[in-house]
Amino acid sequence: MQIAIVGTGYVGLVTGTCLSDFGLNVICVDRDNKKIECLNSGKVPIYEPNLEALIKKNVSAGRLTFTTDLEKAIKQSKVIFVAVGTPPNHDGSTNLKQIEKVAQQIALHLNEYKVIVNKSTVPIGTANKIKEIINKYQTLSLRATEGSAAIPSSVIPASSTVIPAKAGIHPSSPSPLRGEGGVRVKHPFDVVSNPEFLREGSAVYDFTHPDKIVIGTTSDRALKIMQEIYRPLYLIDTPFVITNPETAELIKYACNAFLATKITFINEIANLCDNVGADVHQIAKAMGLDGRISPKFLHPGPGYGGSCFPKDIEALYHFASTCGYDFKLLKGVISANKRQRELMVEKIKRHIGDLKGKTIGILGLAFKQNTDDIRKSPAIDIIKLLLKEGAKIKCFDPLAMDNTKKILPSLTYCQDEYETARDSDALVIAVEWNQFRNLDLLKIKKLLKSPILLDLRNLYDPDKVKILGFIYEGVGRK
Ligand code: NAD
Repeated sequence: MQIAIVGTGYVGLVTGTCLSDFGLNVICVDRDNKKIECLNSGKVPIYEPNLEALIKKNVSAGRLTFTTDLEKAIKQSKVIFVAVGTPPNHDGSTNLKQIEKVAQQIALHLNEYKVIVNKSTVPIGTANKIKEIINKYQTLSLRATEGSAAIPSSVIPASSTVIPAKAGIHPSSPSPLRGEGGVRVKHPFDVVSNPEFLREGSAVYDFTHPDKIVIGTTSDRALKIMQEIYRPLYLIDTPFVITNPETAELIKYACNAFLATKITFINEIANLCDNVGADVHQIAKAMGLDGRISPKFLHPGPGYGGSCFPKDIEALYHFASTCGYDFKLLKGVISANKRQRELMVEKIKRHIGDLKGKTIGILGLAFKQNTDDIRKSPAIDIIKLLLKEGAKIKCFDPLAMDNTKKILPSLTYCQDEYETARDSDALVIAVEWNQFRNLDLLKIKKLLKSPILLDLRNLYDPDKVKILGFIYEGVGRK
């Protein structure tokens, strides 16, 4: 089966690569020339464990290709996965422009029955919206071939041989809507919602060992095709949740909102621990032993970040408001998560005093370990707050320094943890990279101006660190 993936970012690239590894033929499309050139030259534009090797393997097998030619990819594929960005608008609502644009392009290039699978995280009702857009633009395109309507030029692809720019579709142009023998037809299609639950940093593993596959469709024909695509996962007993598109769309938001709430909850307990001298580590352990709670996502820290949680929680809150529902819990989660960053800065100030002119060493910039992604990274937010207070920043991250340099070029970027500690007034562990778990603390202590270690990820045992002569504070444990 030939598959097209539109949007070759974190989700699209991982999805395309893993599906090609399932033995399917996959063509990954992106509008970003540089990204596609990079992939075609054998490099990988993002870091994900095991991704590079899997891409190489499937490219050499001839099952995985990369292109900017959306028209070709649409025409030759039976199934089109859409994995473009759905960034937030200023009011927290979801900006669907990228999705809408892709839906318009699909409409113009449909040449037979196809399944359009939405992997992007979108508000409830988007699958239906995609369907409406495709129907509308197929109809417009059909009328244009008959000379009675013009398609807005913004929709017309530069590469299209079908529609002359600005003039709409000329009646004599070869049309994607012409069936066999030149008879004009509207091609049938189905839109499926298939939200993605992979985590950056373990995306390949998550895609190939998912807890669940959610398929939202009302079409038996599309469902059969989706089951065929995911057959390798079915064979390893992955649970499938088959539902309607609206429910599938809400499942994604419900999962992310719940996880963000769980993180925020343990952060709130940790803050309380800071005030009363209790140990959040013991509390999280005891809570996690309760089968109803589970130990996952009970790690206190500087708050959730990344490209998904912050925007998805805002989007769900906003979506609920537009439906007339005030989702009070989410409002609290959003504001507590913002405050968590500020509390981390307060913690640093409690030990150092006035930050003006002080040098703070920051270990970790990515939004979490095993990724180079810095979108909505708590470490970056904390750095920005520290800069506002007049601090100077030295920093190190195993993977995310290049991305950070693009937005914060004036920081001092160090070669390793020890160079970061050298002459700093305090060292802050902001990301839970494994390599930060076994630092030579005596060496760090000698390099620091004052032996202050602020461990925002609770990587160290407070007693063991204090015995070495450090002033140490974690989150919810001292
Ligand atoms: P991304 O920004 O990394 O990638 C999106 C890609 O789409 C970009 O490369 C962009 O150039 C491309 N694109 C946009 N419009 C296009 C067009 N018209 N034609 C071709 N390419 C186009 O985004 P991402 O992190 O992969 O997220 C994609 C979606 O998946 C979002 O809705 C996100 O919320 C959701 N999601 C992300 C994750 C994650 O961990 N990153 C996990 C689950 C779901």
